[in-house]
Amino acid sequence: MLETPPLTLYVHLPWCRSKCPYCDFNSHAAGDDPPMDSYVDALLKDLEHELPLVWGRPVQAIFFGGGTPSLFSAAQIGRLLSGVRAMLTLEPNPEVTLEANPGTLERDSFKSYRDAGVNRVSLGVQSFSDPALQALGRIHGRDEALRAVESLRSAGLENFNIDLMFALPGQALEGAVEDVRTAIACRPAHLSHYQLTIEPNTAFHAQPPALPDADLAWEMQEACGESLEAAGFRQYEISAWSRPGHECRHNLNYWRYGDFIGIGAGAHGKITMPAEQAVRRRIRLRHPASWMQSVESGRLAEDRSVEPAERIFEFFLNQLRLRQGVRISQFEPRTGLLWGAVAERVEDAIHKGLLAREGDLLRPTELGWRFSNDTQAIFLP
Ligand code: SF4
Repeated sequence: MLETPPLTLYVHLPWCRSKCPYCDFNSHAAGDDPPMDSYVDALLKDLEHELPLVWGRPVQAIFFGGGTPSLFSAAQIGRLLSGVRAMLTLEPNPEVTLEANPGTLERDSFKSYRDAGVNRVSLGVQSFSDPALQALGRIHGRDEALRAVESLRSAGLENFNIDLMFALPGQALEGAVEDVRTAIACRPAHLSHYQLTIEPNTAFHAQPPALPDADLAWEMQEACGESLEAAGFRQYEISAWSRPGHECRHNLNYWRYGDFIGIGAGAHGKITMPAEQAVRRRIRLRHPASWMQSVESGRLAEDRSVEPAERIFEFFLNQLRLRQGVRISQFEPRTGLLWGAVAERVEDAIHKGLLAREGDLLRPTELGWRFSNDTQAIFLP
């Protein structure tokens, strides 16, 4: 039988100063005057439509993602948070994360965001090397990244993440390790560490830069991981490292197949409805202008019940990226299915050395972790 899992709120803020050549997110160059105040109004209207689906359920965390949410002023973020608080029940001390990019912070200092209710910041640094940042088409340089960290600290926002990428155009092993060392010296509570990949529909896809080969990328990942471990960080997901107790609550809930409301252009939401024995997937229209026009009527790009075979895949997909692995006892309440529906596939994965069982936990082995795509593929519908 399905039960309601923890609930978080994701808010998509879609504009950036310019589009980075590697980016396949739903982000759009802001132009001169993006309609930010109207966008905030539309977000609150969008949330109103969701309320009947989540009545009375407390929200654990709020995540402002993008795009570049720090293009919105602290006053706009504050107005949004007041509206959210008026409509939803929040758990005591919810985690409220704002994604921010160095080079976009002139309008408001981090202190204003903190006063508006933000208590965690995710800073899109990507690299501390000026040549690497130029190759990535970023609008900031090393000094601006370091100044942004300084500004976080003076605002008392100690709970922050640094986003870094590795295997960058022309990057050597030492460059990747140096980036991680500089990030550690900034004393973040969390570090996201991603390999640059070339995605379809990006400028890099049309004109690919020369990237380090797979072996060098693997060496970088290993060497950076050693530095992070030595500095007291714990890898809790393939790309996520944190100091103990500072895992990102919204992301962790998403990875554990929890529920999340998603509002804003292109946002995805997943809501469990035990009374109907259904898991609903709700996706907004992708383009900001189309989404803003659709909000009044509540029209969505997709609103459907997730089929049982898909629920199995979704349940395993992200949890197999977690070091902790999968809690077997959560399978039935989160998917509404009996363990027997996957038992044979799990035994097969154990037999192949991809998974190992420890009491209630099913963990990827080192092999299963390294070849996570193969491990996940076992649970494809
Ligand atoms: S700043 Fe981030 S979201 Fe915006 S275009 Fe660059 S990578 Fe994409």
